[in-house]
Amino acid sequence: MTNGLGGAAGVAAAPLLAPGEPAVVDVRDVPGGPFVFLCEHASNRLPRALGTLGLPAEALQRHIAWDPGAAAMTLGLQEKLGGPAILQNYSRLVIDCNREPSLPDAITALSETTRIPGNEHLGGTVRQQRVDTIWMPFHAAIDELAEARIASGKATVIVTLHSFTPVYRDVSRPWHVGIISSGDRRFAEPMLAALKRDPALVVGDDEPYSARDNVDYTIRRHGFDRGLPHVMIEVRNDLVRTPSDVAGWVDRLAAALIESAGAIGVPAVAGQMD
Ligand SMILES: [Zn+2]
Repeated sequence: MTNGLGGAAGVAAAPLLAPGEPAVVDVRDVPGGPFVFLCEHASNRLPRALGTLGLPAEALQRHIAWDPGAAAMTLGLQEKLGGPAILQNYSRLVIDCNREPSLPDAITALSETTRIPGNEHLGGTVRQQRVDTIWMPFHAAIDELAEARIASGKATVIVTLHSFTPVYRDVSRPWHVGIISSGDRRFAEPMLAALKRDPALVVGDDEPYSARDNVDYTIRRHGFDRGLPHVMIEVRNDLVRTPSDVAGWVDRLAAALIESAGAIGVPAVAGQMD
């Protein structure tokens, strides 16, 4: 239908973010080692223009909206090992920054068993606005940072931090931590070896997800496609609910990251790379 003003293409959508709302991307950078810490699912924040997407407040606290504990692990690792951290400040329900934006589940209308009314029957203009406003700046910030590091000769390992729900579609998941890889497993293999040395840990290799589930977008684009070593880390979210639990995982993951960097010949001690 046209509106007499040139049709749908001529109608400007209202801005997704109003002046004064938090920035889309949280970029932090301090001198450090080779690790670039990324967190696509750091926040459950929604732009005010989207209200609650038709969801009850309780649903926005659950894993469908974000990865509980992932931002705390990301910031803890950056504090411990230095280097940059880039976090997405808006919920994956607006658009999932770890998906190719053309995929239907990039803006999901059904997450696990929860309908997302505010994501149903979206037109192309609205979808593109979410890509342009939320998705693009996140990946552009990583592009800029990664290219600058490569240009200045800094060794770089891409590390993405996630958490997963203990029960998915009524099935309990046994893993405490999962290492998700791409076609280049040179950093995933030593990470798996380091974590599996702890007999108390159940470590998933491409579990609970793998590239077959289209969860490898960020490591593929920013790691694999640039030839940079990379890994995606998934920690079960009931294990990172308190600050002390997070601190324990930061220590464990930092040790595994340092060991793995050494295994592929990349110096991992803060300061060595600058
Ligand atoms: Zn995630």
